[in-house]
Amino acid sequence: MTKYLFLTGGVVSSVGKGVTAAAIGKLLKERGFRPTIQKLDPYINVDPGTMSPYQHGEVYVLDDGAETDLDLGHYERFIDISLNQACNVTTGQIYSHVIAQERHGDFLGGTIQVIPHITNEIKRRIRMVPRVTDADVVLVEIGGTVGDIESLPFLEALRQMRSDLGRENTLFIHVTWLPYIGATGEIKTKPTQHSVRELRSIGISPDVIVARSDHPVGEELREKIALFCDVEKRAVIPLTTAELLYEVPLLLEHERLADYILDRMGLEAKQKPDWTEWERMIAAEKTSRPKVRITLVGKYVELQDAYMSVREAVRHAALDAGVEAEIVWLHSTELEKGKGWEEIESSHGVIVPGGFGSRGIEGKILAAKLARERKIPYLGLCLGMQVMVIEFGRFILGSDDVNSTEFNRNTPHPVIDILPEQMAVGDLGGTMRLGLYPCRLVPNTVAGEAYGVSLVDERHRHRFEFNNTYREIFAEHGMVFSGLSPDNRLVEIVELRDHPFMVGSQFHPEFMSRPNRPHPLFRKFLQEVAKKADIRKEKREENLAKN
Ligand code: GLN
Repeated sequence: MTKYLFLTGGVVSSVGKGVTAAAIGKLLKERGFRPTIQKLDPYINVDPGTMSPYQHGEVYVLDDGAETDLDLGHYERFIDISLNQACNVTTGQIYSHVIAQERHGDFLGGTIQVIPHITNEIKRRIRMVPRVTDADVVLVEIGGTVGDIESLPFLEALRQMRSDLGRENTLFIHVTWLPYIGATGEIKTKPTQHSVRELRSIGISPDVIVARSDHPVGEELREKIALFCDVEKRAVIPLTTAELLYEVPLLLEHERLADYILDRMGLEAKQKPDWTEWERMIAAEKTSRPKVRITLVGKYVELQDAYMSVREAVRHAALDAGVEAEIVWLHSTELEKGKGWEEIESSHGVIVPGGFGSRGIEGKILAAKLARERKIPYLGLCLGMQVMVIEFGRFILGSDDVNSTEFNRNTPHPVIDILPEQMAVGDLGGTMRLGLYPCRLVPNTVAGEAYGVSLVDERHRHRFEFNNTYREIFAEHGMVFSGLSPDNRLVEIVELRDHPFMVGSQFHPEFMSRPNRPHPLFRKFLQEVAKKADIRKEKREENLAKN
C-alpha cells in the first residue's frame, strides 16, 4: 500500500516548504524507501512555461520535457531522482482535462461541479504518481498557503483521500512561520495557531507542524504549539533557517522527524540512514576556501530564483573544485549603457544563462565579446550559447548585422535560426524542443574531455538553433562543434579553439547537476575559473614584489 504525505503551508509563503518536502524525501530515501514528490500548484496556467520568471522564478525542465515549478529542482537535487510530468499538476491542467471530458460527452446529463468532478480529477492525478514513478511513498506539496481561495479544491481532495485511504496511509505535515518581534525579542505562535484553525475548518487536522523560524525555538514554544494545535510535542519540529540549503535534511534528522513519520504510518526503516557523505559535503561547504568571482549576465537578476538551478550547479562544481564561488549578478542592459564592464574584466568567469526575447541581448553579446577577448572562462547556457555564436559571427564576418532570427527576423546573417519543426507552431505553451535529447561528443575537445564519454542525454528548452550554413566558415575561424545530435544535424555544444574555456551548450546542463555529482561542463568551467583566479593571484604577487 502506497503511503501519502501531504504538505501544506501556513502563515506566509516562501518559507521553504519545497526544500522541506525535498529534505523529507531525502530522509525517507536514506531509510531505503522509494519516495517521490508531486507539487500541486493552484494557479490556472497549465504550466509555468509561459510565465515570466519575475512571477514564478525559474522554469525547471524534466527528462520528459515537462516545464515545471522550480521546487521540482529541489526535489531532484535532494533525493537524486528523476521526476516526470505527473509530478507537477496545476489547476489549469485539472480544469482543461475535465472540460475536455465534458465536451466529449463523458458526463452526459450531469452538472459538472468542483465537488466531485474537480476533486475526483485531483485525486486521480495524485493516485497516478506511484503508478508512473515506482514510488512507495508519495509526498504531495500544495503550493501557496492555507486560506487561499484557489487551493480549496486541492485541500478538499486531500481531506477526502484521508477518508478513502485511512489515517495510517496518509499524514498531514503543515509548514508554518513563527515571526520574531524585535521590540520584545519574542517569537510568536499565534499566526501558526490561526492557520491550523483555518485548516481544521476545512476538515484537516495536521499530524506534524514544521515550525520555520529565523531564531531558535525553545522547548516551551514547542509545548505551546503542541497544546494549541493539538499535535504531539514530538510532532512539533522546529526548523531554524539553515546556513546552507543542504543542511535541512540533517536538521530534520536531528529533530527525529523521520522516526515520527514512520511510527505514525506503521512503517519500518529498510536500512539505517548513512549521512557520512552528506555530512562531509556540508562540512566542506562550511570550510573556508579560496574565493572566485563569476559574473552572471542575465536579465532577471533582481530575482535570483530565476536562475536557481544555475546557482546550485555553480555551487556543486565550486565545492568540487575546492573554491568558493561568489556570483556577481549583472543586468545585461547595464553593459549596453556602458556600465559593468569592469565587473566582467575583474571576474574569473562569465556565465550567460538561458532567456527569451530581445531585451538586454546586446549586453549579453558584449559580455561574450569581453570574455573572448580577455580570455575569461565563459559558459553559455542555451541562449548563452546562441549569444556566443552571434558574437563570434560578428567578429569573423565583420558585421554587426549578424544575429539570431529571434531578435532580428531580417538579419542578412541568421547564424541562429528557428528550428524547422518550430516554423508551423502557433501556440506558445509547451511547444518548444523540450526535454532529453542525445548529444554525441567529439573526442579531443574541451567538452569531450570534460564528459569523458561519447554519448550523453541532456535537457532542452528552445526554439532556435545553430544555422548549419555557417558551420564551415565558423570552423575555419576556430569554432569547434564539440557536441552534435547523433545524426549530425543539430549543433549541441560549441567551443572556441584559441581560448582556455569558452563553451556554450544548446541544452541546459544546470538541470542535471546534483550535490556530490556536479555536471561535467560546470565542473570543467569551475576548474578553469579557479586557474584564472590563481593566475591573477600570482600576477598580483608579482606586482607587489615589484613595488
Ligand atoms: N530563446 C532561445 C530559443 O528559444 C533560447 C532559449 C533558452 O535559453 N532556454 O532558442
